[in-house]
Amino acid sequence: MLIYTKIAEIQAFLDLKRREGQRIGFIPTMGALHQGHISLISEAQKTGHLTVCSIFVNPTQFNDKGDLERYPRTPEKDTSLLEVAGCNVLFMPTVEEMYPAGEKTNFDFGYLDKILEGQHRPGHFNGVAQVVKRFFEIIEPNTAFFGSKDYQQVMIVRALVKLMASNIEIIACPILREPDGLAMSSRNVLLKPRERQIAAHIPRIMAEAKVILSQLGVKAAKNHVITCCSAYPEMKLDYYEVCNPGTLNLLPDTDKPGQALALIAVYVGKIRLIDNLI
Ligand code: AMP
Repeated sequence: MLIYTKIAEIQAFLDLKRREGQRIGFIPTMGALHQGHISLISEAQKTGHLTVCSIFVNPTQFNDKGDLERYPRTPEKDTSLLEVAGCNVLFMPTVEEMYPAGEKTNFDFGYLDKILEGQHRPGHFNGVAQVVKRFFEIIEPNTAFFGSKDYQQVMIVRALVKLMASNIEIIACPILREPDGLAMSSRNVLLKPRERQIAAHIPRIMAEAKVILSQLGVKAAKNHVITCCSAYPEMKLDYYEVCNPGTLNLLPDTDKPGQALALIAVYVGKIRLIDNLI
């Protein structure tokens, strides 16, 4: 695996590969890699791409400074995981390399960045769009792979591609889970043992709410989630919402949908976890 930290160097290499007719598949990450990330690499490989993974803890997408400071950083372990997975290229730029003039761009995604994660993490999606745009301009991938765990992020990236009038293909990949159902996340390693046990209730609560949703509707599902979360002093529900999966429009409490997407954000101790279920 080739490792680059400089934009000019990775660009020179990728230009060469493009001229050889290779298609470039890009997987942006913030490191502290787990099998969820590796599943995106595998998807890029299966679809015949030269795989380029980036590791960059993007400061502009953190609305909470403590979260940025706490964010796990395990570059050596990440590098060997990517080597074993057969990733072709790893790009690990510094903050100065990515944002030489400390620039800040403002995007308008309409309602999409004002609901759910956008509402609860002000400025988060602006930072995500900023870094993804910068990466897309540097790497110029044919295809980029994202996880559905960050469902709203995938929609923001698709909207960004439209804004950029780009033809980069965006592939959304399924959520990988731990054996007990907890969605894999870099933040899981920050959970204390007792918190980790409690976090496993998140997918259980979501699955129960799904049954209630189809039988009794949105309000009853929400009530179930609120009641379950309040049973654990370590858990603090940030939101649980039920949406149209195509538009992310929130469904009213009175709805009893046939198909819907439920999204949750919940603190377990200090650690904020998200998950979603169709
Ligand atoms: P992150 O390093 O958290 O920014 O994530 C990098 C990419 O990996 C994003 O597209 C995430 O949606 C994706 N990802 C994170 N966790 C998972 C998971 N459990 N399953 C699948 N993809 C994931």
